[in-house]
Amino acid sequence: MISFDINSIKFLKILSDSTHKKRILTGIRPTGALHLGHYVGALKNWIDLQNQFDCYFLIADYQALGDHFNDIDLIRGSVLDVTLDWMAVGLDPDKSSFVIQSYVPEFAELSMLLSFITPIGMLERNPTLKNELDSLPIERRTVGFYNYPMSQVADILLPRAHLVPVGEDQAPHIEMTREIARKFNRMFGEVFPEPDTLIGKVGRLLGTDGKGKMSKSSGNVIMLSDGEEIVNKKVRGMFTDPNRIRSDIPGKVEGNPVFQYHDAFNPDKAQIEDFKKRYKQGKIGDVEVKIALANSINEFLNPIREKREKLKSNMPMVEEALMSGIERTRIIAAETIMMVREKMKISTYTK
Ligand code: ATP
Ligand code: MG
Repeated sequence: MISFDINSIKFLKILSDSTHKKRILTGIRPTGALHLGHYVGALKNWIDLQNQFDCYFLIADYQALGDHFNDIDLIRGSVLDVTLDWMAVGLDPDKSSFVIQSYVPEFAELSMLLSFITPIGMLERNPTLKNELDSLPIERRTVGFYNYPMSQVADILLPRAHLVPVGEDQAPHIEMTREIARKFNRMFGEVFPEPDTLIGKVGRLLGTDGKGKMSKSSGNVIMLSDGEEIVNKKVRGMFTDPNRIRSDIPGKVEGNPVFQYHDAFNPDKAQIEDFKKRYKQGKIGDVEVKIALANSINEFLNPIREKREKLKSNMPMVEEALMSGIERTRIIAAETIMMVREKMKISTYTK
């Protein structure tokens, strides 16, 4: 465990101020290893962002408790899986800070402090939260789950992030973050930048069953860590156009996951156009399209698999990546909490 000297904050503040890049916070809950949907919807974008911004990539293990409080082993195992996946796809712990939420207690402290200036109505009116609660059985609707948007607000505000890359469903949480930041600054004095959303050109990758988005709980995923044979098998079994019972029947390309995956992972654009044209005319079989797709996905995954294997044989390096990110985050976290306490005049009774 890293030790931390509170007296070094002033010096470290100079260090953290010396990077003039805007800060980004984004993250993922450690509830399993990552899949192609995570790559398309998040990681691909993050890889670009790490070159321009000071990024904090959060492994939100506290937040994972919201719907996995009875499965701590899954969370525990997934923290390293997520880290491996991140590094394997090219997130660089020297450029960005990887951080485990529970290793920086200031996340929880800030969430608690901010909860006192947050009207309950903000949670009651949050449409994303409302939908998620409705789909949970009543015994799993906990205060902790209900409060997760509050905890996300603190996740973003603790490193005083300027930008948050999110999907549309997360937009209400960012709006809430902006409101809380404004309110805090107005009531106590300026501490937090009002973070902007960075809605990238990310899409939703369909599941292999074509029914909805790719997601672990739907069992329609291709994992970043799947081997070649598994990918071949999953692609062979993929949903296509259900009306096309023979290959000479004209098929539908829109909404067909096989073609969505081609667009995402096959670099040969001319081949995709040719496939689409012939598919719509009923002049190509599903098998040919799927074999080419499996090859493309395997080619995309090969360097990721190689890197993952290399990292797995050097786990101390992976843990070191986490620890250095945690250490950097603790610096800015201590700074923020110190400012918050000073502005609120809390924990300053002896002065
Ligand atoms: P669960 O089934 O447990 O909800 P999941 O596989 O959907 O898990 P999440 O942890 O909910 O994964 O996803 C985290 C983030 O990854 C999402 O907020 C989104 O940004 C991105 N993401 C996940 N799945 C997809 C997908 N199919 N397409 C695009 N982005 C995705
Ligand atoms: Mg999900």
